[in-house]
Amino acid sequence: MTSLFDDTLAVQYQNDPLGMRVYTSQLLGQSKELVLHGGGNTSVKINNTLYVKGSGWNLDTIEKPGFSPVNLDVLLEMATRESLSDTQMVAEQRAAMSDQSFPNPSIEAILHAIIPYAFVDHTHADAVVTLTNTPNGKALIQNLYGESMLIIDYVMPGFELAKHIYEMTRNIDWNSLSGMVLMHHGVFTFDDDAQHAYEKMINIVTVAETYLAEHVTLACGDCEGKGDKSIAEAVGIEAAKLRGCELFPLLIDSPRAQLFSILPNLESLVKCGGLTPEHVIRIKPFPAIINGDIGSGIEQFVQEYKSYFDANASSKHICLDLAPRYAVIKGVGIVVLGKDEKESLIIGDIVKHTITAILSAEQLGGWGSLTLAQMFEMEYWELEQAKLKK
Ligand SMILES: [Zn+2]
Repeated sequence: MTSLFDDTLAVQYQNDPLGMRVYTSQLLGQSKELVLHGGGNTSVKINNTLYVKGSGWNLDTIEKPGFSPVNLDVLLEMATRESLSDTQMVAEQRAAMSDQSFPNPSIEAILHAIIPYAFVDHTHADAVVTLTNTPNGKALIQNLYGESMLIIDYVMPGFELAKHIYEMTRNIDWNSLSGMVLMHHGVFTFDDDAQHAYEKMINIVTVAETYLAEHVTLACGDCEGKGDKSIAEAVGIEAAKLRGCELFPLLIDSPRAQLFSILPNLESLVKCGGLTPEHVIRIKPFPAIINGDIGSGIEQFVQEYKSYFDANASSKHICLDLAPRYAVIKGVGIVVLGKDEKESLIIGDIVKHTITAILSAEQLGGWGSLTLAQMFEMEYWELEQAKLKK
């Protein structure tokens, strides 16, 4: 992965740190291998304010109004609390904004605040996360990056994660760190110089990409197959009954998707977690698997999704719809099941990156990310559920 930083463009932001923040955030956003559809977040500290990515903005198109100004002292104080619900955290972060016209700050704002550098960059880089989703992922990461890389075991994003990292780093010399890898989640880099923070990210990802290139061989993931598109329509009609609206099915039948569909351990593999936690909100914890009869494949998904809900839910949870967001069709590939073209393209991107990661990890000892219980925690996160209750 090469740096896209262009000195001739960046020079205009020499005395405009927020402008510089916008510039390198957009550079990160341009690579789908780093962030996908709203994933990742960035910030800059100016005087006593943290300007952090607000919800609803994507890094590739973010502008200054996408960076919410939050009082740094308030965020630092929040990190010291014993406990705090994410709902309360969001409300207090909002109250600490100097201008209420901005969007809600990222749920990772406290984490950005406790990192003592001006520029903080956070991505869900495919290559690094893929390595963390293998059986020896932690040792592999430590070997590749050395002692200077801080490795954080998985903790659900939000207050718990910020608190966990706050406790871990209280007595740490941040100057000794080259970055931070969050197992099954992503990467943080930081520096007082925007270009350095960005290029540290590029370098970390390049190391992981090089390792993957040396150890993994993949079939083409972009070229389309010659599959029969009518199967996508047929699956779409069946799944639409569960979603309560028409769907916009898309067929992904690249050689890579076909290969994925015939993996002998497919049924267990798809229940071993996604690429990065937030994807579950878009694609659910696992797909439908169709082996011949479409109706029974979809019905099997419904039963499995219900058992997943029953096994993890308490009385406060509201069950989401029972429609799969994608279906693996054995021997054919994958059908994406968004409610319109926009949603199908987003799901399609996430699925393509996910199967690439899974097929890669399978060549590195096996795929393993979040458990179903951890996926549930994320899919039924209180802030997501609150949206339903409105
Ligand atoms: Zn993240």
